[in-house]
Amino acid sequence: MSASPRVSTLLRRFDRWATPVLAVVAVAVFVGEVVRPLRRRTRPRGKRWPVNVGLAAPSLVGMRLTLLPAMVGLTQLAARQRWGLHRLRLPEPVRLLAELLVLDYVAYSWHRLLHAPFLWRFHRVHHIDLDMDLSTGWRFHAGEMLASIPYRGGVTALVGVRPGTLLAYEVVFEACTAFHHSNWRLPITLERRLTHFFVTPRVHGIHHSVVHRETQSNFGVVLTLWDRLHRTWRVNVPQQELTIGVPAHPDPAEDTVSHLLRLPLEPLRPWARPNGSVPERAPQPGPISRLVE
Ligand SMILES: [Zn+2]
Repeated sequence: MSASPRVSTLLRRFDRWATPVLAVVAVAVFVGEVVRPLRRRTRPRGKRWPVNVGLAAPSLVGMRLTLLPAMVGLTQLAARQRWGLHRLRLPEPVRLLAELLVLDYVAYSWHRLLHAPFLWRFHRVHHIDLDMDLSTGWRFHAGEMLASIPYRGGVTALVGVRPGTLLAYEVVFEACTAFHHSNWRLPITLERRLTHFFVTPRVHGIHHSVVHRETQSNFGVVLTLWDRLHRTWRVNVPQQELTIGVPAHPDPAEDTVSHLLRLPLEPLRPWARPNGSVPERAPQPGPISRLVE
């Protein structure tokens, strides 16, 4: 795609701001998960990180070269055509809040679609990581990122989100993705307070559980509001009882960059271990909305 000068100007500005901000967030999160780990690791970092970084590299380059220019271009088209919010005369703070809520709801709903059979072919590459830490937040198949362009770009443009808001949200989206995938043990009282608004490491850890009911929970990216509204909020599972991954993909020997890049072409496997057993968990004590250690 050839970018118009305006698209490339906006993206150069994005690069100048987003790169240092996201680098600082990544370092802070990494220090947090090294100093105060949340869940016990099942595999050493040295085995997983090369794989996760190997998958992340093409996805990040693809995101910068396709997803971001396409989304910015679509939002600029929407501004010229005066779609959606462009037709309303809203005060600036109301307009900005509406745009940010739309962007985060689009992220939530896209994540739910990723768990439907066709898109799960791509998204399972992210979920079959056998531990979860900062590097899991970068481990996405490039096909998943390409598939998101029509939905994330299209809905955002139709609603009339401005390109500047879109790029500002993208920085928040990436920072929150790094944070909630991290293995950083925050004090439980602090994390309970944060979950009134934001997705946190314990909350998202439950989404990466091998128990199907738990994977079908906590789809939010930045705000927890959408999971509460859609009744997909489930946080009363102790972190030390979680097994991270997908039960049909327990073999670390399959966790190679070349296998994971080919995985979308392989048939879907049932939600069960290779021996046919299905991971389950007895109902947890306490309300489903009460975050536990
Ligand atoms: Zn997911």
